Amino acid sequence: MTLFAHPRGFVAALMLALAACAAPAFAAPPAQPATVRLDYIHSGNALNEQYAMERVVIEPLPWPGDMRRTIDNTNRGNNLVEVVDAASGALLYSRGFSTVFAEWASTEEAGKANRGFQESVRFPKPDKPVKVRILKRDERGAFSVVWTASVDTDAMDVVRKSAPAPVKPIGIRVNGPSKDKVDLLILGDGYTAGEMKKFEATARRLADHLFDTSPFKERAKDFNVWALALPTQESGVSRPSTGVHHASPLGTRYDIFGSERYVLTTDNRALRELAQNAPYEFIEILVNNDTYGGGGIFGQFSTAAASNDWANYLFVHEFGHHFAGLADEYYTSPVAYATGGERREPWEPNATALRDPANVKWKKFVKDGTALPTPWKKEEYETASRAYQKERVALRQANRPESEMSALFHRDLEQTNQLFSRDPNRHVVGAFEGANYEAKGYYRPEMQCIMFDRSDKFCSVCADAIGAIIDLYSGPAQE
Ligand SMILES: [Zn+2]
Repeated sequence: MTLFAHPRGFVAALMLALAACAAPAFAAPPAQPATVRLDYIHSGNALNEQYAMERVVIEPLPWPGDMRRTIDNTNRGNNLVEVVDAASGALLYSRGFSTVFAEWASTEEAGKANRGFQESVRFPKPDKPVKVRILKRDERGAFSVVWTASVDTDAMDVVRKSAPAPVKPIGIRVNGPSKDKVDLLILGDGYTAGEMKKFEATARRLADHLFDTSPFKERAKDFNVWALALPTQESGVSRPSTGVHHASPLGTRYDIFGSERYVLTTDNRALRELAQNAPYEFIEILVNNDTYGGGGIFGQFSTAAASNDWANYLFVHEFGHHFAGLADEYYTSPVAYATGGERREPWEPNATALRDPANVKWKKFVKDGTALPTPWKKEEYETASRAYQKERVALRQANRPESEMSALFHRDLEQTNQLFSRDPNRHVVGAFEGANYEAKGYYRPEMQCIMFDRSDKFCSVCADAIGAIIDLYSGPAQE
């Protein structure tokens, strides 16, 4: 057919020709690279640790991040992963993170036994062979390399094909292409096939609550939220301390490291294999249980008991750990870790050993003339807290209904609010002693914060620290 024989053909050909002429001006952005995942084993004890390569996987979905923001300058986490060009040594990608291993290494058990944990790091697929370096902080808080793996992502034994997705992610909040947004994946564990609607409704409700909390509220459009769950046979996840053992796809459970309210999965392989079916940078796992509990590891995932009366608080508090590496600001609840010892300056943005009050790390928020340390009703708070902790332990030991525990938490918060409302420093940013599981030697920025108790606002320092991470994924382009 000639161009002129058919008017419609001519128009179509002309449009094609025009499109071709216009192409340079409207060039499509370069396609996103593939997502590489390096699975490895991290093992050892309180004193020693080893790393061993398991495998390299090309995940089914393209890299969900912005190729203009590949370098992490926020200085968070116990660890840092660096991907460097094998030939030139040029830094291609970095991210701070923490691990379940490091949490375990601070328990008493790690003084007596070795254990191994699966871990993964993910990065955009490079064109050439790379070195993947895992760095760890030393006693002074500086990073040094503890493991280097040579990775050729085009090598023969790289896993290139995954089984088809067992379930499709549900778009809970989709605000734009994944590369421009922070992609949060909400996974469900302990939901039966008949409870999938409940899972989706809960994921929506908790996401709504997160984006009703500052600073997530103001940055809600910078996020995409996805939800994904594989059904289980039984409702709820394992709670071994009460004899409840359920099979679940992610292996999420209570009683991690002997702490009744600590909920994590140690099955990283299962977690990554399911998560890879959605675009994601952050993961929060909802467990279909009403018993209070949760957990959060920076750069890995967080968990929350989604059927608990305090689920909103749990979801946001644990996400604070996972998303921004925030420290716990509380210090009166029992924890799984060995406490005491030397007060090193923590890397977490919201806790300090206050070695140099004039240069406290959140100085930009401290008004001139503020006393550092900042006085507060510490003794009264601790007296009330001791009584409350006793009641809490007794309720758990007697296996009382969860509603009684929820009511106790309400009374506790009410009491703290009453005490703090009379304090002139209530809304002051300073350095309040008692944080990071220690009554003495560690300080928090404000009297109250979601990282301190079950109140509903992040303090200014935590809010700022969260903003910096949002910027790393969905902010102004890096220089
Ligand atoms: Zn805070």
